[in-house]
Amino acid sequence: MKLILLGSGAVRNNPRRAGPAQILQFGWQDDGTDRVWMFDCGRAACLRLAQQHVPAETVNRLFLTHLHFDHVVDVPYFVYVGWNNSRRYPLRIYGPVGTRHFIEHLIRPPFRDDIASRIGHGKSEFGLDPEVIEIQDAGHVLHEDGCSASAVFTDHGGITTLCYGVEGEGRRVIISGDGLPQDGFADFARNADLMVYECSGTAEFLARQPWGTWHITPEALGDLATDCGVRRLLIKHLVMEDITGDLTAVHDMGDRIRRHFDGEVMVGADGLAVDLG
Ligand SMILES: [Zn+2]
Ligand SMILES: [Zn+2]
Repeated sequence: MKLILLGSGAVRNNPRRAGPAQILQFGWQDDGTDRVWMFDCGRAACLRLAQQHVPAETVNRLFLTHLHFDHVVDVPYFVYVGWNNSRRYPLRIYGPVGTRHFIEHLIRPPFRDDIASRIGHGKSEFGLDPEVIEIQDAGHVLHEDGCSASAVFTDHGGITTLCYGVEGEGRRVIISGDGLPQDGFADFARNADLMVYECSGTAEFLARQPWGTWHITPEALGDLATDCGVRRLLIKHLVMEDITGDLTAVHDMGDRIRRHFDGEVMVGADGLAVDLG
């Protein structure tokens, strides 16, 4: 199993850090291509996919953590380019309640003329309309070909936000959206081989932001990783440098985490790959 962080940034239009997105590669599909599950689809996610030589139309499972625009803004391009490139398998999108409304309004209505012109020239509708699964409750989400996904909620400024756990090939990976863990999170993430968690800024930085309470501090994240007993931690959603201009801030956050967590801490970068064996 291999995780690739496609985008290590967030809202700001940082050319070095695309918006939130990551993929897990494991096993093979029936046609011999890699099985790829994608988590969030923020700004430039599809560009980063192409840079990893992963055709968008081969990604058949997309898991959205929440509907803040930085995490979902590339969804229409992902759906459309997959359709245009004749995806072979149906696309299924998981997400919080509200995802169905989002997809139904995002995919068909604004592109009515585009769809009509392509279908008028013989294009099949297959692959255009994703199947949407809204996750109502924490727990098991999907079991498929020996791999499974589950989800819990995090506290993120009042917007419903999920954190996913994936098991496959004897490995367990935790992939957060934004926000703070709720009770029971440590059991959910217990002994994971890798936890990929947002780290938006230092405590002092977050205290100055109107949205600062929506995010976890590096020290609390280090304590969380210790409580969970995860082996490795990868931080992403690295907002602070966008606002302060301080490119060393991410490494400062990594050092702060290391004072609270003995495992390996990796500071995210676009294209960073973690091979889980
Ligand atoms: Zn975000
Ligand atoms: Zn958010």
